[in-house]
Formats: sequence, C-alpha cells, structure tokens
Amino acid sequence: MPDKITNKQNLSWDEYFMGLAIFTSFRSKDPSSKVGAVIVDENNHIVGTGYNGFVAGIDESKFSWDREGDFLSTKYPYVVHAEANAILNSTKTDLSKCRVYVTLATCNECAKLLAQKGIKKIYYLLDKYPEVETFLAARRIFDIKKIEYKQFEMDNLYGILDKFKNYYPENIK
Ligand SMILES: [Zn+2]
Repeated sequence: MPDKITNKQNLSWDEYFMGLAIFTSFRSKDPSSKVGAVIVDENNHIVGTGYNGFVAGIDESKFSWDREGDFLSTKYPYVVHAEANAILNSTKTDLSKCRVYVTLATCNECAKLLAQKGIKKIYYLLDKYPEVETFLAARRIFDIKKIEYKQFEMDNLYGILDKFKNYYPENIK
C-alpha cells in the first residue's frame, strides 16, 4: 500500500485547474487543436468547463475539421471555442470574480466574451500563434480592460504525474 499523500505531494490549485483544462481538452474531436477551459470562482469552485467543438447535437458528418480551403467548408465558422463553451456551460451568471484556465492562448472572439463577463484573470498554457491578428486583438482587449493574462508554467507537468504514479488506483496500469 502506498503511503498517505503528504502535503508536499498535493497539487496547487493552479496545477489542479490547468490539469483539468488539459484533461477537458481531450474531449475535443478537433484533430489539429484540442483546447480545454475551466472557469473557477473566488472560492476555488469550478463553475464552468468547455472544449472546442461543433454545436451540440448537430449532425457532425455535415461539417469538416478542415483548416484550409473555402471558408464555408472549413471548421472555422462552425466551431464553438473552449472558452465560449465554458461560459455557456457556467453554473453562474456573474463571472466577475472568476478566473479562467485555458490550454491555448485566447482568440479575439473569446477575449470579447471573457472581458464582457468581467473575468479578471486568464491563465493559458500554449501560445502557438502569437503574431496572428486574432491573438494580437485578444491581447489588446485584455491590456485595455486590465485583465491579467499570464502564461502558465507547466514545465513540471510530467513531474506532477510522476509524483502521483504510486497513487493510481490499482486496476490502472
Ligand atoms: Zn476563441
């Protein structure tokens, strides 16, 4: 039997929520970009989660995950982003005391929604397209609205998983 988990082996809140955002992203069917978002309130309670996907319940065979070609034939006009879904799924209407953990830097469309809901802090994991205009516009919104926007240091993710490997349930290999 493994020892009890000590305080030292506890996850921080930030590690916990970003870890959940990563796990949430695995629900996405997008073959090129799986994104997860978690909204957390001032009591560290999760109030919403989301990942990028087509409108729920839609016949997905009628759409494509293509990124190139005629705009109407790509995924872009039809996908709801992780942050937008997290807001839409939120159990609270007032998100003004909330922060967001998201696995990819936020685009301008989601930035508008997050700013409009009064969210004060956003932690993101990857910044794959820092020079693309939609991401520059997002930063502009955050700067002007004074929303804290920070890249999350997750270098020790594997260290965290490794730290807990003795505590997996016994039937998980
Ligand atoms: Zn977005």
